Amino acid sequence: MADKFIRVNIGSKKITLEERKDLELYGGRGLIDKILNDEVDPNCDAMGPGNKLIICVGLLNGTAAPASGRISVGCKSPLTGGVKEANVGGTAGAAFARLGLKAIIVENAPAGDAWYILKVTKDGAELVPGNKYAGLGTYAAAAKLMEEYGSKISVMTIGPAGERGYKNSTVQVTDPSGHTARAAGRGGVGAVMGSKRIKAIVLDTEGTKLEAAYVDKEKFMEANRKFIEGIKGHPISGGGYPAMGTAAGVLGVNALGALPTKNFSDGRFDKAENISGETLAKNAKERGGRTGHACQTGCIIRCSNVYHGPDGKYLTSGLEYETIGLVGSNCLISNLDTVAAIDRMCDDFGLDTMETGATIGVVMESGKIAWGDDEAAIKLVQEIGEGTEFGTVLGNGTLATGQYLGVKRIPVAKGQGFAAYDPRSLKGTGVTYATAPQGADHTCGNSLGTVGEIDPYNKAGQVELSTNLQVVFCMMDCTGMCLFNSFCTVDEQYLMAVVKMFEGKFGGEWTVDRLMGLAVEAIALEKKFNESAGVPKVDVPEFIRTEVVPSSGAVFDLTDEELSQAIPF
Ligand code: SF4
Repeated sequence: MADKFIRVNIGSKKITLEERKDLELYGGRGLIDKILNDEVDPNCDAMGPGNKLIICVGLLNGTAAPASGRISVGCKSPLTGGVKEANVGGTAGAAFARLGLKAIIVENAPAGDAWYILKVTKDGAELVPGNKYAGLGTYAAAAKLMEEYGSKISVMTIGPAGERGYKNSTVQVTDPSGHTARAAGRGGVGAVMGSKRIKAIVLDTEGTKLEAAYVDKEKFMEANRKFIEGIKGHPISGGGYPAMGTAAGVLGVNALGALPTKNFSDGRFDKAENISGETLAKNAKERGGRTGHACQTGCIIRCSNVYHGPDGKYLTSGLEYETIGLVGSNCLISNLDTVAAIDRMCDDFGLDTMETGATIGVVMESGKIAWGDDEAAIKLVQEIGEGTEFGTVLGNGTLATGQYLGVKRIPVAKGQGFAAYDPRSLKGTGVTYATAPQGADHTCGNSLGTVGEIDPYNKAGQVELSTNLQVVFCMMDCTGMCLFNSFCTVDEQYLMAVVKMFEGKFGGEWTVDRLMGLAVEAIALEKKFNESAGVPKVDVPEFIRTEVVPSSGAVFDLTDEELSQAIPF
């Protein structure tokens, strides 16, 4: 039942249902990698009929596993030219579970320029006219769709950025409050949805009930209880994140010297306190927002937040460390309200906050606007939303903007903007930026949690560390569970709990190797796709190799030969 695939040929408008038992053990990122390799020519035009938009859930979706309803959005990336999977929380994963759905694949290209809404109910899927939603921001689009189809629907929608085909464009998903504050953010997945002329997907679960299948439910539940004990007992997933969200990391990363500052020219920001998790939590307490918010049902960590502006009214939700690091310190913006305002604009226009922050950083580096100029930064994002000539350059991301402005220091790998960790002061994450098939992406293997054991400024052991992290993180992306569940799995008893959950869910004998094998296969498929697409295996911008970052005194000193030893499968 939960192996149902909906295939939409947007050219012929034919919709077919498929049962894919053969793909039972592929989920999330791994399923996207499999379909891309089986069905998409790596050399196709990312915005053309040969590319496919794949939306799917992970292997544990619909089960009692905590936060297991993340949804993956994948395609050939218009930003990197290679494989892309961006996953997101919100309400869509749970709706997929209730609808018995594992994946939606949209293929081919539409004949005309009409927009569509793909509506999915218990009775099937249909394309309905969507022109009246075109041009709307994601918040307004979701609100209008809820007026038409009921307030309980889940919405996945693109904003004006995706409609215009910007390489920096997201698919936004409604959270439990109906806000489109959750983003499948990276790699321009929104542009591919826009190229198929689908403005939104409406998931209507009316008349459904959740029926998760387990081979051995008791075994699953027992292991799940153990896993929950591990998540709750870990100092980050059970303490820092529920209290302050991922922004809890701002001061620690700043102390480490890895907080991106002034377009990655330093790793320490003297006003970090102003944009810290502590400030976020204080503002939430005083203004009526909140921390400890869950972006999806079944989450026990609740790292999200609801952020109110100085007027005490809702401004945004899910204001994350990455946004703060890239829109804030990276641009010398020290006002958390400005960062929150840009976060909201990005969610509404359907832009990745991280790519947008890195893009603003290179504009500031060019001298076109001043460092730390809040108003000018907001105006830039407004230009993207309005689609002005310069806004179109900005909307195509950090690399396109840097090249247009003649900036030499462009913080990207494989065409995608760095995440909010300086790769010289956190070299394991730097190895991941340089080698992950997805491009510069901390969610492919972030070494922040290992700084107590491995010197983050020294290159020794970083290739092996990144490789191990890339496998574990990819495994989590295959399960559909939130990555933040994984902190406790460094303790073997909790990793074994996940192994036992797989035995309870799928039957048969599972081991750590078999579980990690899902990720190894997925990464190997990604490498294969990228190689055929001509995406380099290793990519490092020159400036991080030649410029010392003052906060740690380090350069990125791993050679291409050393980096090419990472993820050797
Ligand atoms: S831990 Fe945070 S990102 Fe993960 S599911 Fe919970 S609220 Fe969402």
